[in-house]
Amino acid sequence: MLLMKLIEHFVGGKLFSGSSDRKGKVFNPATGEQESEVKLASKSDLNQAVGIAKKAFETWSLKPALQRARVMFKFKELIEKNSDELTKLIVSEHGKVFEDARGSLTRGLEVVEFACGIPHLLKGEFSENVGTNVDSWSMRQPLGVVAGITPFNFPAMVPMWMFPIAIACGNTFILKPSEKDPSCSIMLAQLLTEAGLPDGVFNVVNGDKESVDAILENSDIKAVSFVGSTPIAKYIYENSAKNEKRVQALGGAKNHLVVMPDCDLDGAVNGLMGAAYGSAGERCMAQSVAVAVGDIGDELVSRLSKKAEALKVGPGMDKASEMGPLVTKEHLERVKGYVDLGVKEGAKLVVDGRDLKLQGYENGFYIGGCLFDHVNKDMRIYKEEIFGPVLSVVRVKTFEEAAKLINDHEYGNGVSIYTRDGDAGRTFASNIQVGMVGINVPIPVPMAFHSFGGWKRSLFGDSAMHGMEGIKFYTKLKTVTSRWPSGIRSNAEFVMPTMK
Ligand code: NAD
Repeated sequence: MLLMKLIEHFVGGKLFSGSSDRKGKVFNPATGEQESEVKLASKSDLNQAVGIAKKAFETWSLKPALQRARVMFKFKELIEKNSDELTKLIVSEHGKVFEDARGSLTRGLEVVEFACGIPHLLKGEFSENVGTNVDSWSMRQPLGVVAGITPFNFPAMVPMWMFPIAIACGNTFILKPSEKDPSCSIMLAQLLTEAGLPDGVFNVVNGDKESVDAILENSDIKAVSFVGSTPIAKYIYENSAKNEKRVQALGGAKNHLVVMPDCDLDGAVNGLMGAAYGSAGERCMAQSVAVAVGDIGDELVSRLSKKAEALKVGPGMDKASEMGPLVTKEHLERVKGYVDLGVKEGAKLVVDGRDLKLQGYENGFYIGGCLFDHVNKDMRIYKEEIFGPVLSVVRVKTFEEAAKLINDHEYGNGVSIYTRDGDAGRTFASNIQVGMVGINVPIPVPMAFHSFGGWKRSLFGDSAMHGMEGIKFYTKLKTVTSRWPSGIRSNAEFVMPTMK
């Protein structure tokens, strides 16, 4: 019998077993086979890691920012050198196709590149003579131990939205990745060590709710970054705040792409295909609702259905595949359940991918692309996040009706409009109640030097991820006011000091 691979934690610069015997199962979604087991940490394992990170903070936080940046430069080189291996790890545990997985790694790498500029990014402000011979300056200092809790759908990129900036700012980090695809985080930790990061600065604790609750309860953890589904994001937000932690908690999404009658329809259809079915719809920026405005609906659905039927579904390592499997069997059943529900709710199922079977991969977690027409705002398949390759077309008469539909939705992560009308595009960007907006761009994910974050129930907290929002989230502001008296001592003053 083959011995099952065991994925441990990474704490204090090395692999760490912890004391818990609990383990989770990690599958290869392409074959449906279990390939490894992952350790699920206990509260005491987590607390042990935090103790080590707290100790490491004492010296790491005092290192000049330039030295911290040099570790980031080296880390960037190592990611580039090991990009194939990291990408294969993503494919083997998540299922997405190889080039898409590589693209997600590159988007994470871009945050490392941003963090390489940390000496510049941490520069404060200085005002000479705020009062006579009085100067004032501000600086941003690290918080201490901070934690990241991440979802299954981007096992490299989402953790990399967080930790490069957090550690470049001088914090130490505990990452609790998704237990469904944990291997990539361990490899990133090993590469950081190889890049010269001191032991204990970056730690990976694998686990489930038990370790998440231990993070929320540990008073040495000063800030929590979370990305995942909305109910858990709300739980993290409430409990972090209750335990006096800074928190940013990004949740789920239901993103709309508005197709105006004047748009380049080929551009919109191609944009929708990639945005709805790429990564099998398991993206928080997936476009899962196409809003057809005016009389464009019939032509839009006809072109989409031909392409959705022709989608090449297969294992992520097969170069011909455009879409891979879903992450687990449970998730596959959930997505199929939503397609069944849409049919019951009265939407028209134009393309049905439920019965897809792949020769040689009969046990893989595959579903073909699904396309619904005539979906309306009262259906659950419209209101809820499906997180699979299911695109719903909603037909409306006017631009105003499309905007109202989107603004009334509980989620506000991403949105796009396809149009040739500059006025419609500009009005849309100004008025729409969504955090990330695309104009003739299907997936408007901000670059690393901007910030990523939705509105409404897609983000709880005040800060988006990375960019300057990330620098602010992982540092606290200190403002110093100073005077160096030259011999003449002033008398005590009992009134509010004002400029003299
Ligand atoms: P999830 O909420 O199930 O899990 C996210 C993390 O929370 C994991 O680390 C998991 O171990 C932990 N967790 C799960 N249940 C928990 C519980 N009861 N108590 C405490 N911790 C718990 O999310 P997922 O299924 O891994 O990821 C998919 C979701 O993530 C989708 O809703 C997607 O929209 C969202 N997502 C959002 C963004 C964004 O930027 N807004 C980005 C990526 C993914």
